[in-house]
Amino acid sequence: MFLDNNRNDLFWGCTEKKDYKSSNHLMNVELFMAQNGHLFESIHIASQVHDNKVFVVGQKGVPDDFKEDALVTNQKNIAIVVRTADCLPILLYEARKKIIAVIHSGWRGTKKDIVTNTIVKMQDAFNAKAQDMIALLGPSIGSCCYQVGDEVACNFKEVKGAITIKGSSKYLDLSVVVKNSLHNNGVLQIEKIESCTCCNPDQYFSYRRDKLIQGYQYSIMMLC
Ligand SMILES: [Zn+2]
Repeated sequence: MFLDNNRNDLFWGCTEKKDYKSSNHLMNVELFMAQNGHLFESIHIASQVHDNKVFVVGQKGVPDDFKEDALVTNQKNIAIVVRTADCLPILLYEARKKIIAVIHSGWRGTKKDIVTNTIVKMQDAFNAKAQDMIALLGPSIGSCCYQVGDEVACNFKEVKGAITIKGSSKYLDLSVVVKNSLHNNGVLQIEKIESCTCCNPDQYFSYRRDKLIQGYQYSIMMLC
């Protein structure tokens, strides 16, 4: 579990396998937050369809028919969450204006540049500034394990370091593409949890390794 407790205005963290108690996502997040002593008014988990839509959460929450892969809010005590099991979770905090965002970015969302869409939404809705943002890249599948076909690799060939070739196989590092996008948007404070979900079966769920969904890591943010 990553948890930065040094800020009293922000809760942000990524769960691990041991924090997954049931197939009920809300219950898992509620338990995790309660264990860490955080009270909340509501929890919103992104619907996640591997697209690039972003929703700004207010007091009313997200309409059922909106399919988003990123959530943004400026509201206190509203937890926003994405769930992953190899895809890259991104947590964004605009420290001056106190705006937060969580992003689910697999290769499709990364290709569709959901990172830029989210930053633009934070700027448009709240006048957030990229230079005041801190990004945390949560646990995801590393290039050590993420072998991809040409149909995936060809989308990222312009990004230096995104594709590694070993023999006749290609491996994708999503975090390189996402860091590139963050940089291009002016976000320079970037931290990354380096462990690979696929290489660490005791710690993380991995769709690629397990061949099916056994559970998820949750990446959670809340303004306090
Ligand atoms: Zn690995």
